[in-house]
Amino acid sequence: MDFRYHYTKEQEEFRKEVRAWLEANVPDKMRAPYGSFYDLPENVYKFWRGKHKELAKKGWLYPTYPKQYGGGGLTVEQDVIIAEEFDRARAVRNFVNGVVFPALLIWATEEQKQKFLVPFLKAEKTTFQAFTEPQSGSDLANIQSRAVRDGDDWLISGQKIFVSGQATPDYLFGPIMTDPEAPRHRNLGYFMIPYPSPGLELKRQNLLNGRDQNFVFMDNVRVPGDHLIGGDHQGWQVAGSSLEIEHGGRGSPLQRDDYMKNLVDYARATTHKGETLGSDPIKQQLVIEAYADSHISGLFNLRNYWLYQIRREMSYEGSQNSLYGREYRMRNANRARDIMGMYSLLDDKDPGAPTNGMQEAFQRSSLVGAHPGGAIEVQKVIVARRLGISRTRERAAATPSTAGISGG
Ligand SMILES: Cc1cc2nc3c(=O)[nH]c(=O)nc-3n(C[C@H](O)[C@H](O)[C@H](O)COP(=O)(O)OP(=O)(O)OC[C@H]3O[C@@H](n4cnc5c(N)ncnc54)[C@H](O)[C@@H]3O)c2cc1C
Repeated sequence: MDFRYHYTKEQEEFRKEVRAWLEANVPDKMRAPYGSFYDLPENVYKFWRGKHKELAKKGWLYPTYPKQYGGGGLTVEQDVIIAEEFDRARAVRNFVNGVVFPALLIWATEEQKQKFLVPFLKAEKTTFQAFTEPQSGSDLANIQSRAVRDGDDWLISGQKIFVSGQATPDYLFGPIMTDPEAPRHRNLGYFMIPYPSPGLELKRQNLLNGRDQNFVFMDNVRVPGDHLIGGDHQGWQVAGSSLEIEHGGRGSPLQRDDYMKNLVDYARATTHKGETLGSDPIKQQLVIEAYADSHISGLFNLRNYWLYQIRREMSYEGSQNSLYGREYRMRNANRARDIMGMYSLLDDKDPGAPTNGMQEAFQRSSLVGAHPGGAIEVQKVIVARRLGISRTRERAAATPSTAGISGG
């Protein structure tokens, strides 16, 4: 039996069209660098801001999102082809933090979808995710930033940290406390906060992987009433729709892992005392472990992508995917050090660095990647709750897939 998916002639033609467009439109110096996603040189950022508008018009930026909101309205097969070809060309996909989309698709009114979702999907505006606060990272429900009603508006004060994104956004989105008297999980609202606004300040935060995070300071920032998504006590539920996707619930059709492939190539091509590294029995074992780990992670991603597309309700699968992805990347970074020795720590400025310092970038990004969207231990807690081996039990929040919303 042949289990492979066979593309139709039309789909193969579509692939050729996407590939040809990328070849004609993406010069080598504009391709995504390894390591950090957002921390691009300014000219590269500007180039992609322009290209994203063109891509959105073609329907290729958000292929499966509804056409009436600026998405492509394309099929899942076209989505996979675009993802594979963009990945192959090292194209920079987008600058909008996409975890806002499920929240808007499910919880926003029609007017709010037109106001917020449409300009994001058309690449006219960007937004950063502002969830984490100094005291509420893993314990996200412990948000202390305060929103107080002032006529039809809200006045927001407080602080957020680790807010990722290139340049500056048009909006920050996230939960803010609306009612200090209400119980946990019932005391938040989910806001779209316009940037710039008087009283709102973003300050760059420099992490191991580059300068693409921000501290956010809010001092009586005036936010119009229609910038609240969902009810003023529903912020936790709205945030849940974002988190379900951030925790890996939409998966990915991509099976590529450049760092792992680079490690295999390195072991194959590098010689020591006349023998390839791969013929050393210890290094050989390490390379094969890296290879297997990477493939397992790819399969979790593919399974979740499939479950999402067929609208199957998930429980632990999202966080299982996220957990495995983070842990295996750290394991592979350790293996890279054991296989390559000090060469794995030479960065792209060092002429002796193999593959322009790609593995050095991986050393940093694999460590930093253990935290975004909930740390490793938090993913384990979520899996435990959903498997029913915890004091508390929980079900997955609604996603566009399970809410029956077309596209997304
Ligand atoms: C590169 C990067 C990008 C990010 N981007 C964004 C962004 O765009 N927007 C945003 O809002 N946030 C962002 N974050 C923040 C991220 O979501 C938080 O770092 C994460 O939720 C953990 O919170 P914390 O850093 O406060 O760690 P803490 O919550 O202080 O945790 C510290 C350590 O203690 C462990 N721990 C905590 N509680 C428990 C427990 N109950 N049981 C067992 N172990 C526990 C954690 O697992 C962790 O290892 C980003 C973070 C990074 C590093």
